[in-house]
Amino acid sequence: MDTQTRAHAGQDQAGETTWQGHPDPAAPHRDRVERTLGAHNYHPLDVVLTRGSGVWLYDTAGRRYLDCLSAYSAVNQGHCHPRILAALTAQAERLTLTSRAFRHDQLAPLYEDLARLTGAHKVLPMNSGAEAVETALKAVRKWGYEVKGVPEGQAEIIVCANNFHGRTLGIVGFSTDPDARGGYAPFAPGFRVVPFGDADALAQAITPNTVAFLVEPIQGEAGVIMAQPGYFKRVRELCSARNVVLILDEIQTGLGRTGAMLAEEHEGIEADVTLIGKALSGGFYPVSAVLSNESVLGVFQPGQHGSTFGGNPLACAVARAALAVLHDEGMIDNARVQGAYFLERLAALRGPVREARGRGLMLALELEADAGPARLMCERLAARGMLVKDTHGQTLRLSPPLIVTREQIDWACDQLQAVLDAH
Ligand SMILES: *Cc1c(COP(=O)(O)O)cnc(C)c1O
Repeated sequence: MDTQTRAHAGQDQAGETTWQGHPDPAAPHRDRVERTLGAHNYHPLDVVLTRGSGVWLYDTAGRRYLDCLSAYSAVNQGHCHPRILAALTAQAERLTLTSRAFRHDQLAPLYEDLARLTGAHKVLPMNSGAEAVETALKAVRKWGYEVKGVPEGQAEIIVCANNFHGRTLGIVGFSTDPDARGGYAPFAPGFRVVPFGDADALAQAITPNTVAFLVEPIQGEAGVIMAQPGYFKRVRELCSARNVVLILDEIQTGLGRTGAMLAEEHEGIEADVTLIGKALSGGFYPVSAVLSNESVLGVFQPGQHGSTFGGNPLACAVARAALAVLHDEGMIDNARVQGAYFLERLAALRGPVREARGRGLMLALELEADAGPARLMCERLAARGMLVKDTHGQTLRLSPPLIVTREQIDWACDQLQAVLDAH
């Protein structure tokens, strides 16, 4: 890790927190407002954060927490990274939004950076991850009709069970999670679900009308689920042999999280379409992009797809800085090295642990079925100064910013052990 990363991470080591937060006079009013005025579509841990720096978050009572979620990997670069902040403020003072009705000078540099760093031949910038997914789904259907020769209206897209690709009506229609899709029917037709990690099932599901297979390299929301080695090699071969577009959703796995720029590098394959988002802005601003080979994004003509904010000057400047620091500050290497160490330490924890798994700094600790809810563990960890998110009842997800140090990981594992001992 170089000096700038170390400075951003903070010289202060974990474990120095004093747990004497001061009372927050605004708390009762804020609680009441959130309870009565806010839709209840989230059930957050009861910490009220007001400041972040590097791996650290601070609450309104002045307590400090090690962030082990990184906003679901949107803050890979660490909170409020100074270089990204500088790019944001400099661009915000010059030009923020033109719409794509006019050209601006920030778009071409972003295209070039993305092409150089990911090998993409064409780029389409959007805002949220879900919009990048929707854009890819539209593109592959159009590609199916115009390039592959699928009869109009017959295109099929294959997806995986337990997928997570976002929250739009189109996307939740092919989710298999009852919470994500329940109550929102009717849904768009044209999707087929196969088990994740089962290449034979994919082979059987492909028909002459199949235009694409959409899959996450590691299923994040499902609980950091990994496929067997060799699965993605076979997926790549099947898609090539049957003229099916392989879309990798790298919105969570991408941009260094797994110890490589893109998780596909671990599998030795190249997707036809790659989706990125989240850390593409380092957490400052929603920025996503569809990256593709020449032919898939080549189907769009003027007026056929768009977004008012997609590819705006502010987003481009922020994304370029967010990409640059990943590379310049050695964050991807750090994710690989510290991730391997973290996994080793997680696997050595004593107590009701069923499995530690993951790659790079995209990690999970699954508790034994009878160990009690992981949510309770998250609450106890929060009380000890560590923020973690549970998923699917029994699993803790651990994904600190990519600047995390070995000492901070040691401290985090001590907290996990203490909470497991009491669990
Ligand atoms: C978070 C996520 C999305 C959706 O991104 P939003 O910005 O929340 O719309 C899509 N796919 C994957 C794999 C994700 O983790």
